[in-house]
Formats: sequence, C-alpha cells, structure tokens
Amino acid sequence: MSQRYGQNFLIDHNIANNIIKAASLKKQDEVLEIGPGRGILTKIIQPQVKYLTTVEIDNALFLELTNYTTPNNIKNIKIINTDFLKYSVPTTKLKIISNLPYNIGTAIIQKILPLKNWTCAIFMLQKEVAKRLIARPQTKSYGYISIFASYYAECKILFNVSSKCFNPQPKVVSSVVKLTNKNQEQPESLFLELVKHSFSMRRKTILNCLASFKYLKLEKKHALQIINACNLNPLFRPDNLSFLDFLRLTNEAKKTYNLASDKA
Ligand code: SAH
Repeated sequence: MSQRYGQNFLIDHNIANNIIKAASLKKQDEVLEIGPGRGILTKIIQPQVKYLTTVEIDNALFLELTNYTTPNNIKNIKIINTDFLKYSVPTTKLKIISNLPYNIGTAIIQKILPLKNWTCAIFMLQKEVAKRLIARPQTKSYGYISIFASYYAECKILFNVSSKCFNPQPKVVSSVVKLTNKNQEQPESLFLELVKHSFSMRRKTILNCLASFKYLKLEKKHALQIINACNLNPLFRPDNLSFLDFLRLTNEAKKTYNLASDKA
C-alpha cells in the first residue's frame, strides 16, 4: 500500500464504533469523510445519516468503495476521487469524520477549521499532533497550530489508539480528537501572521518578535509601547502568550501602525 498517501487502515471495529459514537450522529445529519480508504468508518456512518460525502485521493480505493456501494444500491453516498486539499467543500451544514492521512493532517485541519458550515469534527491524528492542537501556553507542544485551533474550535482529546489497531501499523500512537466549531469571524490575517512569525523564533522575546515582524516594520520603541499597552512583559517568550494576548497585541499594533502611517 502506498505510504505516499499516509495509508494506515483501521482494523479494530470497536475503535471504529467509538469514533463514530463521538459524532452523535442523527438521521438528518450530512457528513463529510476524508480518506475513507477501505471504508471501515464509511460503512458505519452511511446507514445512520441523511447523506455522506467521501473524498478519497487513491483511485484504487475509490473504485473499491464504489464497487461496494453501487451493487448494494446505496443512494445516500457520494464518493469523490480527488485530493481533499484541492476539493471545494460543500456549504451545507456538515459533521466531519476522518482517520486523517498523517502526512497532511495539519494541512487538512487548516483547511477545515475556517469554514463556516461544519458543526463538529472527529479526527484521528498522531498523538503528538493531537497534543499540539489542545496545548496550553507554557508547554512544549504549544505553538501556531494550538492558537489556530483554539481560535476556531473547542478541542478535546477523547482517547488514544494503539498502533496495533491498524494495518500496516504506523510508528506512532494515535489520538481521537473532537473539535466543536466556535463560529468565529475570520481573524485578521495580521493576527495569524504575527503568531506564525513569533513561533518561528519561539526562543526570542516578544519584543524581538514584534519588532522584527515584517508586515508592520515597527521601531523597537513602538514595539515596546504596544507590549506595555497590553500589560505584557516584553521579555516574555511567544509560548507565554495566550491567543487572546496575541489578539490584543495585533489590535494594539494596528492602532500604532495606523497612527504612524497617518503622520507620514
Ligand atoms: N478511513 C480509513 C483510511 C485511513 S488511511 C480507515 O480508517 O481505515 C488515510 C486515507 O486517506 C487513505 O485512504 C488515503 O488514500 C487517503 N488520503 C490520503 N491523502 C488524501 C488526500 N489528500 N485527499 C483525500 N484522501 C486522502
């Protein structure tokens, strides 16, 4: 099987059922499944919901699944053979379920979370990635993706899954996470850029991070004023700041930046 597509098929039916249970599926739900593979989750989801859309990149697996649904006359499913990262997600209300392809798990999360129409998402990920999603400030796992995720969603780890539950077995332990959409407005791109920039130099002080942020080109004294106005210690490192701290910094920086450019 192709390692290229991060294919580790779940073979434990108990785990599969527990993943699906976490989505509390209802008859009227529409569900999107990313990477159905051999269909272990697909076959549990489909009979429980109004409509299931699955997106599978691998043509052989796409055909395998179609060869199951067509002769069985299953009508409430659409199987799409494409790369999810290139797929335009329907705008109807959706629950999302996926044993995520490990190599592109975070890219998929970054594509889904900003969408308006998902309500909850159950993902299986590497345990390390799950830890980064739910990480709090002052921890090693805390970083851009933690802030990105907590901006858009409530994130909870439900349970871990041993590598023995897959074929072929991955090298790492997996975790199942539940994300619930907070229905936030889109953040300023400046906010996410500042967080990304700061964590790319996570050992530096936030004063250095802010002063070297290329989108604002602040003088160091202005960066210091902004940090002081937010009641933050300029010697803090990025991982001392919560996502609200970063939001406040962005807003304060924008004010200063506008003033400075008004004068120019
Ligand atoms: N859900 C199945 C398969 C998990 S393995 C199970 O639990 O057993 C991950 C699946 O995602 C594989 O079927 C792989 O082919 C598919 N996949 C990998 N990258 C993808 C992408 N970019 N878009 C859609 N599917 C992808």
